[in-house]
Amino acid sequence: MVSDTLSRPLRDLRISVTDRCNLRCTYCMPREVFGKDFVFLPRAELLNFEEIHRLAGLFVRLGVRKIRLSGGEPLLRHGIERLVEKLATLRINTGQTIEIAMTTNGLLLPKKAQALKDAGLSRLTVSLDGLSEATFQRMSDTQVSVATVLDGIAAAQAAGLTPLKINCVVKRGVNEDEILPLVRHFRHSGIILRFIEFMDVGSTNGWRMDDVVTAQEILATISSHFPINAVDSNYSGEVAKRWSYADGGGEIGVIASVSQAFCRDCSRVRLSTDGKLYTCLFATEGLDLRDPLRRNASDATLSGLIVDAWARRGDRYSELRQAATVQPLRRKIEMSYIGG
Ligand code: SAM
Ligand code: SF4
Ligand code: SF4
Repeated sequence: MVSDTLSRPLRDLRISVTDRCNLRCTYCMPREVFGKDFVFLPRAELLNFEEIHRLAGLFVRLGVRKIRLSGGEPLLRHGIERLVEKLATLRINTGQTIEIAMTTNGLLLPKKAQALKDAGLSRLTVSLDGLSEATFQRMSDTQVSVATVLDGIAAAQAAGLTPLKINCVVKRGVNEDEILPLVRHFRHSGIILRFIEFMDVGSTNGWRMDDVVTAQEILATISSHFPINAVDSNYSGEVAKRWSYADGGGEIGVIASVSQAFCRDCSRVRLSTDGKLYTCLFATEGLDLRDPLRRNASDATLSGLIVDAWARRGDRYSELRQAATVQPLRRKIEMSYIGG
């Protein structure tokens, strides 16, 4: 067990398996920046599956119990189910209960859901910012129909990837009128809908505090139509605050990373597509693990690097932002590269 300067354990590893995506959500990879001239990482720069598996094994030995594959769009990574299968062997090799989760935009789920389930994926989250075609297409800057995502969700359910979660980022003036339609659609479905406050990740999405629809506003919108009750967290460090419909319609969550920062319990570490370790979503510098890995460093050396980085960690960016004491960062790392 390792802990950082604020006594927070290392529990949760997020891995960006690709910096590429088949959508261009305006709050994440705006097309003006991630257009046809944008240079994504060349293949040789990406950690390969063996490298990811080896590092993940070291993280598990240091206390990680949940591994989330993200990106970019993780289903674009060729053979991603083979990586899930490899990571699932960590459960057997270490005798630990390790959750292997993925966040995806869902477009490729009709092709991939069953293979992911068979490979041992424990949990799946699908991002969907609205049910109206116009809003969905505007927000993700795509011609793809919302029906494709709904087909992906259905495929995940049919494959038994349950309980499924849906992530919806809410941006003022863009999709707050999608809150109630989404609530109505997913109530009584067994699917857990979660609303996320728009965050100032990266340096390209033009974030302004005014664009944030706060958790309080989101909950007021929902509860004006559907009475809800607070539910206890599943575990310390859970990012979503949980609520349940009073009429038994199921559970919803709100991730209030801007208005109610939760750094105090943050046990998340991130591994970028090219093998850098980041101890905060808002970090500006990462620790390169790929270079020592490719120079045949021993497990002890690599673990030592991770332990040192975690022991030095004092990150609490969102708390400082909330207290308005944080200075604007020079250049933050993009979410697609660091893994959402
Ligand atoms: N492409 C996958 C997807 O969209 O689910 C995985 C990567 S994406 C970066 C992971 C999650 O981060 C998504 O649910 C997305 O909505 C969320 N996200 C991206 N940019 C965000 C922002 N600026 N504020 C809040 N959430 C954001
Ligand atoms: Fe792609 Fe996900 Fe970012 Fe949207 S949020 S651009 S789907 S990585
Ligand atoms: Fe964790 Fe950094 Fe987010 Fe705070 S701002 S919750 S430390 S990732």
